Amino acid sequence: MISEAEARAKILESVRPLPPRKMSILNALDHFAAEDCFARLPLPVFDNSAMDGYAVLASDCKPSKRLRVTGEQPAGVDRRLCVSNGEAIRIFTGAPMPEGANAVVMQENVTRDGNEIVINVDVDIEEFVRKRGCDLGEGQKILGKGDPIVATKLALLASQGFAQVSVGGEVRAAIISTGDELAMPGEKLQPGQIYDSNTVLLQSLLKRCGAVVASAENCRDDADSLRKAIQSTAKKEILIVGGGVSVGEHDLVQATLRDLGAKIDIWRVAIKPGKPFLFGQLGRCFVFGLPGNPVSAFVTLLQFVRPAILKMMGASDLDLPRMPAKLTVDLINQSERAHYVRGEFENGNFAPVGRQESHALFGLSQSNALLRVETGESLKAGETVQIQVWE
Ligand code: AMP
Ligand code: MG
Repeated sequence: MISEAEARAKILESVRPLPPRKMSILNALDHFAAEDCFARLPLPVFDNSAMDGYAVLASDCKPSKRLRVTGEQPAGVDRRLCVSNGEAIRIFTGAPMPEGANAVVMQENVTRDGNEIVINVDVDIEEFVRKRGCDLGEGQKILGKGDPIVATKLALLASQGFAQVSVGGEVRAAIISTGDELAMPGEKLQPGQIYDSNTVLLQSLLKRCGAVVASAENCRDDADSLRKAIQSTAKKEILIVGGGVSVGEHDLVQATLRDLGAKIDIWRVAIKPGKPFLFGQLGRCFVFGLPGNPVSAFVTLLQFVRPAILKMMGASDLDLPRMPAKLTVDLINQSERAHYVRGEFENGNFAPVGRQESHALFGLSQSNALLRVETGESLKAGETVQIQVWE
């Protein structure tokens, strides 16, 4: 049995970022930037009006002052108009500032009188003018290599005229759920059978990690079937095999992988739940054997598979989001494995929830955070701890 840290390090040493590709910004959400991106335009791109109103010289404006309206500047064209003393230009939000003007008076603050306006307020220099480059300067970094591409970053790329962005490679995942006891949701349950809940769990988590689930199938605990299933699916970047990695006579995954020529790098990790976790390579495919118990599958996917997928996709931050929380109970870990306690994080508090056993799916479904309690660690109620959140 190796430590969790060793297992994670070994996995992350083995997987490499996949070759990047160019992608339309319309499809790039939730990918990771494969290179730094820099502003090619300042923002705003040119001095423009923040209001519908009149472009003026601020020094020309005081209450009761009359100005002659000499033109109109809408958004979308630059009429190259000019404002001198005693003059104003009708202007609209987003329209380029006319030459000579250094402020905009809101239309609500003037009285229009034919071809003239009467100013009703004092006006400051640069009032309601959005200055070129005040938000973003040319050449400034707008996206860092490995950053997640979120909606606001995509909008920023669009504002710079980028139609495409270079993102990390695609991770395709295949899932095999093993077990003679498995029935598919929707089928009639026979005595001794249970519904397969892991396939949909793994599929959903893999999608959340950013992987594309290329296939998901069930397989009986039978060496021939398993062999065929693994052979036909180990062609993607990763293969997740659920169940069958433990030590029972029906746990055939490791032996079958070895028969097929796989290199097994990790089997059994000091993590609770999740001890039978397996990691190896079959050809170019990384194989993750997750224990069949739902909570074990959940924890090992988040702690071992997720960072591997993120690294392959070119992400720089491979950890689950962490945050401080106040523990509501005493906790002690007397086992020889690091314990991931499932709990509810609410209003800054973390409270363990449900049965803390690896089969307890209902408890897992009520939780939204994990607390890692180290071997031998003793935590007291009221203490601030760092928790991991996944939703
Ligand atoms: P295994 O890792 O194959 O020894 O399975 C451990 C436990 O997880 C057993 O109680 C299995 O019935 C259960 N299990 C295995 N696969 C699944 C699955 N796909 N859905 C729900 N439970 C499962
Ligand atoms: Mg099994």
